[in-house]
Amino acid sequence: SYAGVHSTSFRDFLMKPELLRAIVDCGFEHPSEVQQETIPAAINGNDVLCQAKSGLGKTAVFVLATLNKITPVPSTVSAIVLCHTRELAYQIKNEYARFSKYLPDIKTGVFYGGVPIKHDQDILSDKEKCPNIIVGTPGRILALVRDKSLRLSNVSSFVIDECDKVLEAVDMRRDIQEIFTATPHNKQVLMFSATLSKEIRPVCKKFMQNPREIYVDDEAKLTLHGLQQYFVTLPEAGKTRKLSDILDSLEFNQVVIFVKSVQRAKLLNKLLNSCNFSSTCIHRDMLQDERIEIYKQFKDFTKRIMVATDIFGRGIDVERVNIVINYDISKEADQYLHRVGRAGRFGTKGLAITFISTDEDKKVLESVQERFEVSITELPAEIDPKTY
Ligand code: ADP
Ligand code: MG
Repeated sequence: SYAGVHSTSFRDFLMKPELLRAIVDCGFEHPSEVQQETIPAAINGNDVLCQAKSGLGKTAVFVLATLNKITPVPSTVSAIVLCHTRELAYQIKNEYARFSKYLPDIKTGVFYGGVPIKHDQDILSDKEKCPNIIVGTPGRILALVRDKSLRLSNVSSFVIDECDKVLEAVDMRRDIQEIFTATPHNKQVLMFSATLSKEIRPVCKKFMQNPREIYVDDEAKLTLHGLQQYFVTLPEAGKTRKLSDILDSLEFNQVVIFVKSVQRAKLLNKLLNSCNFSSTCIHRDMLQDERIEIYKQFKDFTKRIMVATDIFGRGIDVERVNIVINYDISKEADQYLHRVGRAGRFGTKGLAITFISTDEDKKVLESVQERFEVSITELPAEIDPKTY
């Protein structure tokens, strides 16, 4: 099947019965290929560096492995999960909530910038509330470590999601290093991404001891099978008109439209709203509460269209998104892959349309096709709605 589902059962993994019950409640019937390969290694205590396609369930691998491992001790942080955006941290925290449903003694907390640090400090110093598992973004976690409100001396699991993104930026990498140094030498390290270039792998492995390297797909196979990909060549000035035609003619559940700047996100969203489309937008230039609120509204299907900058381009899982439009193409091939992976989650069908208006755009599109061995063709006049 599209999701590479094996006939194995979650029961084959040696997990706490409370976790198996929660998995059933989540509606997961069979582990996906990446879960099949990675969950046993993680449960076995190995360090794991894992690359596998978007949307096939990497989150459940580390959520289940860490929950399985932890015996909660009050006021003690046992696991730390780091990722690059606040929305993703929030989403991961919710996955912990789902899977720890029958493990009421395990508490999970989420900490990220943009909200008063006092709030996090109060939670950490409260014996009743101190989380055993903490999900967060590197800047805020480091600030909490530095002011000694967050003690990591009992951490036994250290996880980085979207690890290539987190470790490629020099400032984030430095933060991660400092957080890492505050944890004990002996611990399990787990890292995940859909893209792990040959250059970034050794950087990841520096944090690990004798890791199991699990690359479920080579680059050529990273393209999602259920996803149809097209481009439209047009002048910059024709983009909005074309977008509105596409939104009028295609049948969509939910759409994510990627643009290259905050300014363009705001403008395009305003325009779509004035044309009575159910649109919202998300970008860095927004209050944190507002960002999470908008993420929730979109996830709850209150809005059908999300205009976004690249902060929404990785890791975000909204199952009803079946169309991604690159109003502005990404700067790099990897980022293109992450963006279009927001449609076609867990092997469902989807459609990706990319606007091409400059030679630069054309070059990125060519590099995508080369790197991922995919052929992206011109958007046809009509597409059968049954195919996406
Ligand atoms: P990734 O991190 O690999 O991009 P996610 O962990 O975000 O993927 O998972 C994508 C979606 O697939 C989520 O909505 C998740 O709940 C769902 N999912 C994951 N594993 C399974 C499974 N074994 N069976 C059914 N759905 C699953
Ligand atoms: Mg993910």
